Parts: sequence; C-alpha cells; structure tokens
Amino acid sequence: MAKNWFPDKASSLKSREELLGENALLYKEVLASRKAASITADLVVEQFVRMEKINRSLGEANTVLQKISTLDGLTGIPNRRFHDGILEQEWRRCRRSRQPLSVIMVDIDYFKLFNDCYGHPAGDRCLQRVAETLQMVIHRAADTVARYGGEEFVYVLPESDRHSAYSVAENARIEIAQLQIPHEQSAVASYITISIGIATIIPNKLLDHSSLVQHADKALYMAKKNGRNRIEVYAPERK
Ligand code: GH3
Ligand code: MG
Ligand code: MG
Repeated sequence: MAKNWFPDKASSLKSREELLGENALLYKEVLASRKAASITADLVVEQFVRMEKINRSLGEANTVLQKISTLDGLTGIPNRRFHDGILEQEWRRCRRSRQPLSVIMVDIDYFKLFNDCYGHPAGDRCLQRVAETLQMVIHRAADTVARYGGEEFVYVLPESDRHSAYSVAENARIEIAQLQIPHEQSAVASYITISIGIATIIPNKLLDHSSLVQHADKALYMAKKNGRNRIEVYAPERK
C-alpha cells in the first residue's frame, strides 16, 4: 500500500481555543512594547527639557561671568579689559565712518599722599566717589568710562571731536572739585582734584588704537607738569 505523505488534515489544524490563546499572547506583547516605547519617548522628552534648562542657565551664568569680568571690583564701573575691547571696536567703527574718536585720560592728583594721610580705606572710598562722578558726566549711549588702573580712569568718546571731548573733560574736572573731598596734603587745592589729558583722531590705517591712548597719556603728563588740576590736549608737535 502506498505511503500517505500528507498528514492528516484534521490533526494539523489548530483548535479555535489554541488560536485565540496565541493571538491573545501576541496582542499582550504588542501592548507591552507599545507601552515601553511610550515610556522611552517620555523619558527622552524629559531629558531633552532638562538639557534645555541646563543650557539656558549655563548661558545666563556665562553672561553674568562676562559682565563681572569686565567690571572693576572696587568701583563697579567697567575695567581696563572692557576699555581695551571698546576702544578697538570704536576705532574700527570710526575708521569706517571717518568720524573723530576721542580718549580722555584722568588721574587723581597727589593720591599717594591722600592714602598716606587718610588711610587706604578712605582712599578706596574716594576712588568709588570719583568713579561714580566721572560716570555721571557722560550721557550718550556710546560714551564709556573705565578704571584704567590704580587712580587712573579713561573715557572713550566715539564720534566726538576735541571740542566735545574738552567739554566732557572740563565737566569732569569741575564735578570732582565740587565733591570737595578734603585733601590737606595736596599742593594744588585743599580738596581732591584731577589732571586730564585728551587725544582726538580720525582713525586711519597707518595708526592703531593704542597710539590714541599713548597720545592722551602724553597730554596727561603735560597736565601734571603744568601744575595739575588742569586739562591738556595732545598736539603732535609736542612729541
Ligand atoms: P600724581 O599727582 O603725580 O598723580 O601723584 P599720585 O600720588 O597721585 O601718583 P602716584 O602714582 O605716586 O600714586 C598713586 C597712588 O594711588 C599710589 C597707590 O597707593 C594709590 N592707589 C592705587 N590703587 C589704589 C586703590 O585701589 N586703593 C587705594 N586706596 N589707593 C590706590
Ligand atoms: Mg597715576
Ligand atoms: Mg595720581
């Protein structure tokens, strides 16, 4: 008798119950993996939001740090680092627009004697009042004043000719004198005074911004030499 190669049809068919059981299992697995996917997605979103928050606060901290690093610790006005950056930037801007740029150097007269006479903490308070007053003298958004170092301050006045620079300098000199901070050791007055040097230039490619500060410094030196509590304007023939 020939062999029956085909299995019995009835025995290869699964029962309805078996099929329902297998499907139910499969369905449960699908549900479980969907749930897992949704939990993972929630976690990813949560993590993303957290990263965004961290990024934002890092950015804010960075801005604060940048601000702090350009401010002078004692007086709260911009420091030398800020001045260097702004001068370079304004030099380029005024060179492009062919506008004059002025720098004013300010130095407190006989400040060492002030410290010797009234003490270092009184010297610090004096520097704070001088800085605050020098800042009050400027009103245009682009004008800045910074503590250059020790008892020296520097203004950068973009788009200002020597006449407007002179008027800022004279206001500064008068305002500081009007503070009437006693200085009995000063040889020029019985109160704190400042000496001032001004330099103005329309920036060009032959010079760089540091020459403007050097010129203002030379004028300041002349102001000291000529008696202090006064303003001198840099003139090239004085070289
Ligand atoms: P001149 O009129 O020629 O400018 O004389 P001066 O005494 O002001 O100049 P000098 O450079 O001889 O002295 C500057 C003084 O400024 C000496 C230093 O002790 C003082 N000074 C610098 N920085 C500070 C500071 O942060 N606090 C105090 N209290 N004094 C300071
Ligand atoms: Mg000095
Ligand atoms: Mg001085």
